[in-house]
Amino acid sequence: MICNNLEKIKFTIRQAATKSKRDPETIKLVAVSKRKPTEAIREANRCGQLLFGENYIQEAREKIQHLNPELQWHFIGHLQSNKAKDAAKFFQLIETVDRIKIAKVLNKFAGQYDKILNVLVQVNIGAEPQKSGIAVEDTEALLQDMKHLPHLRVQGLMTTPPYGHQPEDSRSWFRALKELSVKIAAKELFTDNENVELSMGMSGDYVVAIEEGATIVRVGTAIFGSR
Ligand SMILES: *Cc1c(COP(=O)(O)O)cnc(C)c1O
Repeated sequence: MICNNLEKIKFTIRQAATKSKRDPETIKLVAVSKRKPTEAIREANRCGQLLFGENYIQEAREKIQHLNPELQWHFIGHLQSNKAKDAAKFFQLIETVDRIKIAKVLNKFAGQYDKILNVLVQVNIGAEPQKSGIAVEDTEALLQDMKHLPHLRVQGLMTTPPYGHQPEDSRSWFRALKELSVKIAAKELFTDNENVELSMGMSGDYVVAIEEGATIVRVGTAIFGSR
């Protein structure tokens, strides 16, 4: 079932990319495996999936240590300072940097591990009080501050838009994140302003996200079933 789901989703991603005149190879699929057992991840890996996303450091750490070391991991949950050391050690990309304090802590640990850590800045695009992410109007200043952190590679932006009943409900939020990224790239605040990553779109709305410029989609339920 997992293989079937993955094939269908990869096909749909290619279709959406082609429709939007984008190269399908530029879109990465993160298989979100939170609260799913390692056996489900192994199964996805057997049908070719290498990139996975996890929300909880403790859970992820157990899984990562038991799985194929070739797998790649994105951290997509809310990150606390006391978990930043493990985050910097076990993940290839931290998608949820939303304040300078956590950026500095990650930078410190990346330095200790002698690595350059890839990060995205998480934006609270709908200004929802219960959600993590930096406010749209504060994003530029955060990126400005992060320029001074030599062990971080700031690759782009990530968001989870307000809940909608239809995939189309997400479109204007995705468009807003894209516009924000263009504005920030024009000021050369990303590490590589020609290749900016945009992580947006989940099981319900990843097609719309791709149409609006997503380079990373994070899909859980549609691959692994409901949690
Ligand atoms: C759980 C989660 C996903 C995956 O959501 P699905 O609706 O299961 O595809 C994507 N992004 C984040 C940040 C998540 O927490």
